[in-house]
Amino acid sequence: MPKIIVDGKELEFKQGQTIIEAAKDHGIEIPHFCWHPKLSVSGNCRMCLVEVEKMPKLVIACSTVAADGMVVHMDSDKAISARNAVMEFFLINHPLDCPICDEAGECKLQDYAYQHSNGESRFVETKNHKDKRVELGPNVMFDGERCISCSRCIRFCDEIAKDPELTFVQRGDRVTITTFPGQQLDNPYSMNVVDICPVGALTNRDFRFKSRVWEMSHTNSICNGCARGCNIELWVRNNEVLRLVPRQNEEVNSFWMCDHGRLNTFKFINAEDRVDGPHIRVEGNLIKVGWDEAFAKAASNLKAFGKDEVAVLGSAYATVEDNFVAVKFAKSVLGTGHLDFVHHIDPSFGDDILKNEDVTPNSKGAELAGVIPSKNGSDFNGIIKSIREGKIKALYVLEDDILNDNPELETVLSKLDLLIINSTNFNKTTVLADIVFPSATYAEKNGTFVNFTGRVQRISPAIATNDVDRALEGMAMSRLDKFGTKFDRWAQGKHYDARSSWKILVGLASALGHELKYNMAEEVFLDVANSVDAFKGLDYDVIGELGTQLKNVNSKSTVKI
Ligand code: SF4
Ligand code: SF4
Repeated sequence: MPKIIVDGKELEFKQGQTIIEAAKDHGIEIPHFCWHPKLSVSGNCRMCLVEVEKMPKLVIACSTVAADGMVVHMDSDKAISARNAVMEFFLINHPLDCPICDEAGECKLQDYAYQHSNGESRFVETKNHKDKRVELGPNVMFDGERCISCSRCIRFCDEIAKDPELTFVQRGDRVTITTFPGQQLDNPYSMNVVDICPVGALTNRDFRFKSRVWEMSHTNSICNGCARGCNIELWVRNNEVLRLVPRQNEEVNSFWMCDHGRLNTFKFINAEDRVDGPHIRVEGNLIKVGWDEAFAKAASNLKAFGKDEVAVLGSAYATVEDNFVAVKFAKSVLGTGHLDFVHHIDPSFGDDILKNEDVTPNSKGAELAGVIPSKNGSDFNGIIKSIREGKIKALYVLEDDILNDNPELETVLSKLDLLIINSTNFNKTTVLADIVFPSATYAEKNGTFVNFTGRVQRISPAIATNDVDRALEGMAMSRLDKFGTKFDRWAQGKHYDARSSWKILVGLASALGHELKYNMAEEVFLDVANSVDAFKGLDYDVIGELGTQLKNVNSKSTVKI
């Protein structure tokens, strides 16, 4: 393999790679603003200037192709003074906004000002003022004074979102970005420009001014907005999720996520309508009760029905673990084979970039966990038909607001003698329920989702319910170490009385005289791995932070970006 030498280190590289790419592959970051690994090279920020032996002038590392034997100096006096000069130019007109800028704490300009500049400005003239607080679109705000004209946002719209909406106008130090006449920055991926803007010029209108980033914890998770399963981080302060940002996974979503996932998949977590504690219906109203009372009530009600009179619906919103225990609960505890889950398909949602028409995170996982009718059991349509005919009288629903997508089923579900629902929030279906158990959201539990390509990916608790607090107390020290400082943060803010659905079913099984021996999600998953071929040999550590492709499950590569 050909080699280059960067600051005395010999690095192998692939033919065709630029100096910046070759260095990056070996963990060496050459300072840069405009270069991004997934965008075309524009070479306009000049921050990556390096000295290359036998070349008469400094070159930009982002567009100079590495050659065998090339000797590169990033830390020579010439390179350092060039970087300092570039920084000095950037800071000439940059406002002293850091104390009020959302980007502070995660800003490249701020970081490089510490690492690569003189520490003082020689510019005593009046700074050039530009427009601030420009609404580029419904989700993104622009501050012209903070912009360093790197063009990342323009190239993102052109090359990734395939929707050219932004451009430069003016010249020299008057240059600024704007939308084309009559257009807004409103493509379905528009908010990724906020992530890749190296400064605070583009801000997330939903999150801006909500929190300083250093006051927040962040936890790796998976978006639950569709079957793509984009890798994300949940950013939390005071036990409240305040923003989602994409997490790089080249097998799933690269660096990106859609605006729908970013904005619409976390607000239900701290919404007013959260189910906080178990509820049973008394004289027409749902009344909050303790867990033991709710389990006893549900158990005695369920005992009144024959095996064929009861059906269970798993959920494509719930984890593999929740669905796996639901199958055990249906088959071994209730003895019913009337078992299925509802598919939520919205062809208008899917696109050729990331968004998938299956708007649930785990339909493949629910199937693999065994949420399918037994030989003589009914599928969803059969269950509805049997309820209509009065043959099925009791229904257990896991984490799915069936009536939201299927309002026409209201009269059918009203015929049930018993409707028990595990739900994170009160919704159209819980209006009909006799008993509602409070489910933990995806941000409050451990578990796994399987995306539409057959990749199993982990979710972890980013915020605490009363139950997660207790579960963590019982965890091994290594687990506590891993969660580290989050403990203190978890002590603050609202804690809901909710449990993972698998755990609710374990409690209810016990009230029905059956023992399902699981104490933690990891234990459920190990049982999944022992029982379902596709998961064989896996555990949470093997799955890791980026997930793993299940064997013999649809694995066609679908990343087009
Ligand atoms: S708004 Fe941000 S991403 Fe766009 S050109 Fe300016 S600095 Fe670059
Ligand atoms: S494409 Fe799907 S999984 Fe990805 S962010 Fe959007 S809704 Fe979430």
